Amino acid sequence: MDWTVDPQRRSFLTPGEQASHTPFPLQNLPWGVFRRPDGSPTCGVAIGEWALDLGELEAAGLLPELDHPSPLFRRSSLNRFASLGPDSWRKVRERISELLGDDEARLRDDHELRHRALFRRTDIQMQLPFEIGDYTDFYSSREHATNVGTMFRGPDNALQPNWLHLPVAYHGRASSVVVSGTPIRRPQGQTRPDPDAPPIFGPSKAVDFELEMGAFIGPGNSLGEPIPIDRAESHLFGMVIVNDWSARDIQRWEYVPLGPFLAKNFATSISPWVVSFDALEPFRCNSPVQDPEPLEYLKSPRPDATFDIELQVDITTSSLPQPTTLCRSNFRYLYWSLAQQVAHHTVTGCNLRPGDLIASGTISGSTPDSFGSMLELAWKGDRPIELPDGSTRTMLQDGDTITMSATCHGKYYRVGFGEVSGTVVPCG
Ligand code: MN
Repeated sequence: MDWTVDPQRRSFLTPGEQASHTPFPLQNLPWGVFRRPDGSPTCGVAIGEWALDLGELEAAGLLPELDHPSPLFRRSSLNRFASLGPDSWRKVRERISELLGDDEARLRDDHELRHRALFRRTDIQMQLPFEIGDYTDFYSSREHATNVGTMFRGPDNALQPNWLHLPVAYHGRASSVVVSGTPIRRPQGQTRPDPDAPPIFGPSKAVDFELEMGAFIGPGNSLGEPIPIDRAESHLFGMVIVNDWSARDIQRWEYVPLGPFLAKNFATSISPWVVSFDALEPFRCNSPVQDPEPLEYLKSPRPDATFDIELQVDITTSSLPQPTTLCRSNFRYLYWSLAQQVAHHTVTGCNLRPGDLIASGTISGSTPDSFGSMLELAWKGDRPIELPDGSTRTMLQDGDTITMSATCHGKYYRVGFGEVSGTVVPCG
């Protein structure tokens, strides 16, 4: 077993009960980028209520030698570190885990170093963890694709003929990926509410959320050299929660024949802490059985190609400050695995680069309380969602805040992702 996920281990920063309740116990150690209280950016990890500045540890000579000139962590993104690959990530993770353990004095008893390298998470400003060169959004939930297909084409043609044979995706917009907390301005655009009248221009009346998870690419591949599926996981650095905001009315009018464009390019929000696959390993589980069997290049080398990650979406509104849960879902429901997505993405020879983001597509389950978008929860407006104050929603209104959270529940500890939150604000 990987000793960094040994449930018996404790950090001096998560004493007593905290170790089993925090989303960020010693077994998690998610990577992130933040501004220190003095305003300077640095890479770090989250531990309990704290963020550990890896730039300070590196400067103090406490991190292992890696095949890269320093500084590696006193930077405003994780791109360089992620490009080094799993052996380097693991070396650093093991050293941090050691230093944060309650049985190790080096950091615990050095009050001067603790003062320089540890910050309350409430005192820092989280940034995007990567400079994201490219962003691809998949469509890997069979339940979501079936729901949307049923609404717009009827139950007999719900899934397109290609869907069970390849992980469908589109190339998204990387420049508008924003970190949790960034306000989401309602987009304007062209729509055609009356099919018998010409299109009109104005603010979208159908701003929606999409509950997704995303993975960041570590080492890339060279142009012309596909990543085989049995090596795909070693190219994945870690995961975040993704809210792929969507303007349904703009999408409906524009998407034929090339797919979504402006309906998706105004904002995509991500949670700031990137959870490593070493931390997720204890939560590995089987993917859904695939029938028909995929082609050879998409055949999973293992049945347990996914992870048991519980997901939740909450809403607050200007008149309802208490969160109301809109849905609960699970990453494990996805039909196509991350490894299949990477293998498919690169099979043409397309090169992925460190810091590229691939998102899963909306993650819906089989029951109506597990649908991952307003479109499905309110069934394209036919079944408005009732909130506790008597108000209803079919799509999001200005002032609505959507907060998504993700957690792996272990027997002795949990591995949390924190949350991704965004408030819809008026345009103009
Ligand atoms: Mn999406």
